[in-house]
Amino acid sequence: MTIAWVGGIVTDRSTCVLAPNPGAMTLEGTNTWVLMEPGSARCVVVDPGPLDEQHLQRVLDVVALRGARVGLTLLTHGHLDHAESAGRFGELTGAPVRAVGSGHDGLSDGDRLTVDGLDLVVVATPGHTGDSLSFLLAAENALLTGDTILGHGTAMVAWPDGELAAYLHSLQRIEAMTGSRQVTRILPGHGPTVPDAAGVVRYYLDHRSERLEQVRAAVAVRGADVEGVVEMVYADVPRELWPAARLSVLAQLEYLRVHPQPWLPGRGQRRDSDR
Ligand SMILES: [Zn+2]
Repeated sequence: MTIAWVGGIVTDRSTCVLAPNPGAMTLEGTNTWVLMEPGSARCVVVDPGPLDEQHLQRVLDVVALRGARVGLTLLTHGHLDHAESAGRFGELTGAPVRAVGSGHDGLSDGDRLTVDGLDLVVVATPGHTGDSLSFLLAAENALLTGDTILGHGTAMVAWPDGELAAYLHSLQRIEAMTGSRQVTRILPGHGPTVPDAAGVVRYYLDHRSERLEQVRAAVAVRGADVEGVVEMVYADVPRELWPAARLSVLAQLEYLRVHPQPWLPGRGQRRDSDR
């Protein structure tokens, strides 16, 4: 039923070049996004990905095929699977690389970026990491979400770099953007594009809420013991993902320590099963 995600042309303005780094945390690999206004001379590249010369060459080939060159490179966050090649890609293209906190040209919420008619707006979406950004491609009602929302499964909030309260706030912010139809499509950092942005962000909020209530219940039985909570709450998750689950539990325990009351009444009680 599922068609394998291999990247390629997604919309008039967006093409995905899939990096060759598939894995449990990276799904089919990192999505390197090439964005440009049709017919223009310069493009924007989001997340050049791991340091892999062949991958970078493929990205440059995609850009050259459109008769363009790279005018700007953006990073959704600093994790190596997205950003390791940033310095090398900057050398290859001569174009600036911008991210959160990268000195004088560091990006912040609300920044407008325009490259040859292509308009992007920076949307700060901390939580997966403190430096996580999304980019709004308003012309296509599309949001590039990095690792904040993925093409399938759910995203990871890993203590201590990730922060659950911030993540929930970011998801609610994206939910508001889908509610106003400003965003209808997600272009994620891993996995296929999501045509139903409103549906996926609702699912993410429900999933987070359910996990939190499961962790709360597990703590009531086992105490705030990470191993005990992982065994109870993540029993359905493959063991290879348990190291990640431990970090996720740490983020949730910290959240529950600061927020002892259930959040958003009505969420998390809709289903017994957790996807
Ligand atoms: Zn990633």
